[in-house]
Amino acid sequence: MTRAELTDALRAIVGPRGVLSRASELLPFSADGLPTYRLPPSLAVLPSTRQQVIDVVRLLAREQVAFVPRGAGTGLSAGALAQDDAVIIGLNRLTRIISVDPVNRLALVEPGAVNVSLTRAAAPHGLHYAPDPSSQSACTIGGNVAENSGGPHCLKYGVTLNHVVAVTVLLPNGDITTLGGAGGETPGYDLLGAFVGSEGCFGIALDVTVRLVPNPQAVRTMLADFMSIAAGARATSAVIASGILPAAIEMMDGPTIRAVEDSIYAAGYPADAEAVLLIELDGLEAGIDDEVHRVEAMCTDAGARTVRIARDDAERARLWQGRKKAFGAMGRVAPALVVQDAVIPRTRLPDVLRTIHEIAARWNIQVCNVFHAGDGNLHPNIPFDPNDADATDRVHHAMREIMRACVDAGGTITGEHGVGLDKLEYMPLIFSPASLDAQCRLRTVFDPERRANPGKVVPVHACREWLAAPATRARA
Ligand SMILES: Cc1cc2nc3c(=O)[nH]c(=O)nc-3n(C[C@H](O)[C@H](O)[C@H](O)COP(=O)(O)OP(=O)(O)OC[C@H]3O[C@@H](n4cnc5c(N)ncnc54)[C@H](O)[C@@H]3O)c2cc1C
Repeated sequence: MTRAELTDALRAIVGPRGVLSRASELLPFSADGLPTYRLPPSLAVLPSTRQQVIDVVRLLAREQVAFVPRGAGTGLSAGALAQDDAVIIGLNRLTRIISVDPVNRLALVEPGAVNVSLTRAAAPHGLHYAPDPSSQSACTIGGNVAENSGGPHCLKYGVTLNHVVAVTVLLPNGDITTLGGAGGETPGYDLLGAFVGSEGCFGIALDVTVRLVPNPQAVRTMLADFMSIAAGARATSAVIASGILPAAIEMMDGPTIRAVEDSIYAAGYPADAEAVLLIELDGLEAGIDDEVHRVEAMCTDAGARTVRIARDDAERARLWQGRKKAFGAMGRVAPALVVQDAVIPRTRLPDVLRTIHEIAARWNIQVCNVFHAGDGNLHPNIPFDPNDADATDRVHHAMREIMRACVDAGGTITGEHGVGLDKLEYMPLIFSPASLDAQCRLRTVFDPERRANPGKVVPVHACREWLAAPATRARA
């Protein structure tokens, strides 16, 4: 089949408005939330029903065409970008919450359902979906499953993996299989665990069954401000060491605080502070205020200037809005923003942040840190002008040094945003050749022809057959 014939065959499945082939139409699919990668695809197909997704994948399998599943495109690792002639399969028209089962506390959703819409659907039953990426008003459950996404409240409640009980997977060859089960643990290998976080390389999540959790009886949200990051880090460590498990502990540094306060998302953070901690405690009404006072005392002992406790839901929502929209607020600082993602042992926060500051000074760039402090998941963000080639080059150098510093501190290269294209070069810093090879072979179980999101997650040169066949290397 020629490309034109393929385009016609796809149109026959999804209708003429479901296939995009003009450069102007494809522009939104050329990047995700990370502005440093732009790869315009040659074709995007937007099925509206489950059967259309199946028919599209089966057609592509017959024609041996690679494809890239895509949700809302909010990913931050260039994972949903198409290389070469891979076809983008946009799943964001499959938005149905198929069922909410309050008795078993489960929901069945289509892959394009937006994260927050699930919580809205569960709300009348006093339930919610716990993983809450800051992008939750846009990102899809399919994307969350593929990235094993986290979010501020994952400190207490766990990440996506802990909330997905079953996924119906459309394999790249067009077969359909169910991994996991709504009834609980299934015997045999944990293939559901392998699929969650597979970044679109193992096939397409056609539907997802997730756990819903009861809304807590009581919630208290606190804002502590500090004149140094180190003091904020000390408070974080003290709270965790005390045995109190907050629902969330988020930190923002001075430049982030000021970007938020200068924006429409201003949350009332003290603009002269060098760090704020947003701490949320939840649980039973009985005893929660006691924990609040203990956390307050720990923050004060660590050097907090003030600790403010939100008086009502409106104040609480405002404090959270500043945090959740912090990336957006940085749009005031520069036209583009690189959001990085690394995990370090929590106790290394002060020295790693100091090193990041030194790297930023050396490369003459600005870094704004906003992150999940409770689990040591850093997000050093670099605002920059992508039209300035020299600045872009300096950003790349600085990013590499920052990732290296996190690894050297005993950390790892991603906490929640995935590897995609962006972190490929760092994978050998973390994994041995044998372990990378094992990952290549695991992928082969799901996708022997490597047509699902090719070129992502594991560097091609790490795969055994590539190592064994120098001729392949010349072509790669
Ligand atoms: C402002 C902002 C804040 C963010 N905050 C967080 C945060 O707090 N925590 C966090 O973890 N992430 C965060 N992210 C990153 C991003 O939102 C998540 O990775 C999210 O899960 C991506 O979902 P998506 O629908 O946009 O997926 P996309 O970006 O479209 O795709 C991401 C990956 O998933 C694959 N994929 C998509 N749908 C499917 C499917 N149905 N089946 C198989 N594979 C699929 C794609 O191939 C790609 O590899 C943030 C992003 C932004 C822009």
